[in-house]
Amino acid sequence: TQTETLLEVNNIEVIYNHVILVLKGVSLKVPKGGITALLGGNGAGKTTTLKAVSNLLASERGEVTKGSIIYRGERVQDLTPNDLVRKGVIQVMEGRHCFEHLTVEENLLTGAYTRAASRGDVDADLEMVYEYFPRLKERRRSQAGYTSGGEQQMVAIGRALMSRPETILLDEPSMGLAPQLVEQIFNIVKSLNEEQGYTFLLAEQNTNVALRFAHYGYILESGRVVMDGPADDLRENPDVKEFYLGMS
Ligand code: ATP
Repeated sequence: TQTETLLEVNNIEVIYNHVILVLKGVSLKVPKGGITALLGGNGAGKTTTLKAVSNLLASERGEVTKGSIIYRGERVQDLTPNDLVRKGVIQVMEGRHCFEHLTVEENLLTGAYTRAASRGDVDADLEMVYEYFPRLKERRRSQAGYTSGGEQQMVAIGRALMSRPETILLDEPSMGLAPQLVEQIFNIVKSLNEEQGYTFLLAEQNTNVALRFAHYGYILESGRVVMDGPADDLRENPDVKEFYLGMS
């Protein structure tokens, strides 16, 4: 049985400010129901790749100048970020981006804005989020700005879930978090994947953790994919061990 490919990035080139070539022909495939990791060091182009997919480059004066981005067989690179959310693709940005003055629960509710959902549906989704993030239920009346980094990452993921996505693009979920919390967040991602069927494409500098939880990985260097393969194979690969696994 062949798994359906949800997202296909074909040989994309991204240029910032009309002159800075950052992605030099990146291709990747994201299968339905999988956790796919985009790996590589600082500045390799991971964030740029995610933003190209979710159409968030324009605000940074970036554009896809070559190649195509296909979701469920349809070319999506001319859609607005909101249209893409309606198609089931949502990005959780690096750095978490909560509304600091809103409560945790209000933050989660803002995630439901793109759909015309009934209050009952929204409540059911909220319960689902609290089931996976019990900590957020405890903190639901707290102002998001006063919660910890780990809790804010949970809010950011929970908020994305409220849009009822099919595919979640997760940018650097481990950033700035203690190892124990990183482990906790990745375990929740794994449960969401296995129990709820969400598809993930995640960008991570922490190769170690990402390859333990992902099914497949792509390694980016200076805007190019230099290696890809099943996560277990990458973990055993001598070059990956030497250049990536020792470091994180
Ligand atoms: P990081 O983990 O630091 O986010 P990354 O692999 O996600 O790394 P990108 O953020 O995609 O890398 O950056 C890739 C390259 O593009 C870097 O050289 C960066 O300086 C450059 N870049 C990113 N955003 C812009 C921008 N708005 N304008 C110009 N250059 C940019």
